[in-house]
Amino acid sequence: MSSHTLQLTPELYEYLHSVSLREPEVLRQLREETARYPRAAMQISPEQGQFMSMLIQILGAKRIVEIGVFTGYSSTIMAMAMPEDGHLDACDVDEDFTSIARRYWKQAGVEEKIELHLAPALDTLEQIKRDGKAGTYDLAFIDADKTNYLHYYRQCLELVRPGGLVLVDNVLWGGDVADPTQADEDTEGIRKLNRHIHQDSRVDISMLPIGDGLTLARKRG
Ligand code: SAH
Ligand code: CA
Repeated sequence: MSSHTLQLTPELYEYLHSVSLREPEVLRQLREETARYPRAAMQISPEQGQFMSMLIQILGAKRIVEIGVFTGYSSTIMAMAMPEDGHLDACDVDEDFTSIARRYWKQAGVEEKIELHLAPALDTLEQIKRDGKAGTYDLAFIDADKTNYLHYYRQCLELVRPGGLVLVDNVLWGGDVADPTQADEDTEGIRKLNRHIHQDSRVDISMLPIGDGLTLARKRG
């Protein structure tokens, strides 16, 4: 009976967590540690992580590329959702953040599944293509610098197989995308990609108001 999406009050959000969140202890600790950093808001929300984990299980994903690791919440939860022979290429430029991620990959027992590429992600994506791995990934998660979002999307769409998913984080950008007074380059970068994906007939799409907004783009066969 609803023609629009419910607004979550803090009480309702708390309720949602209380009856659905199954966050492993290692991820709870990672979230607690990350909360002490000023840029903690960059981390995905735990129910979003749980949702992405379910997508990975439904897809049977074994090859994932992540753009934007930070302290490791999304990479850890995605690696945990993959089988033992799963592989995640994790791209970031920041040694300090990713040293925290590495610690949690070990603690979660997923360090064997994750390969960290410490370089600008566009270089790593080019290298992956040169290695002949285009069309071999089941899922790509885009969550780094917003000004490069369109480039990341184009590259990731080449990397995933038909039927594979490209996930894009922060597509609602705290509401700024719908605020005409916001014209900074991050907001513009996200708007540009949102418009582009909407018109892209190579993919089926769904934009979810979970976390800061998450777009699912499934590459058509
Ligand atoms: N997915 C993470 C959050 C990522 S925050 C989580 O849910 O916890 C964005 C990250 O993108 C930061 O760690 C930043 O260092 C990284 N980043 C910024 N510019 C980048 C670039 N050009 N290439 C790769 N990573 C980049
Ligand atoms: Ca994010």
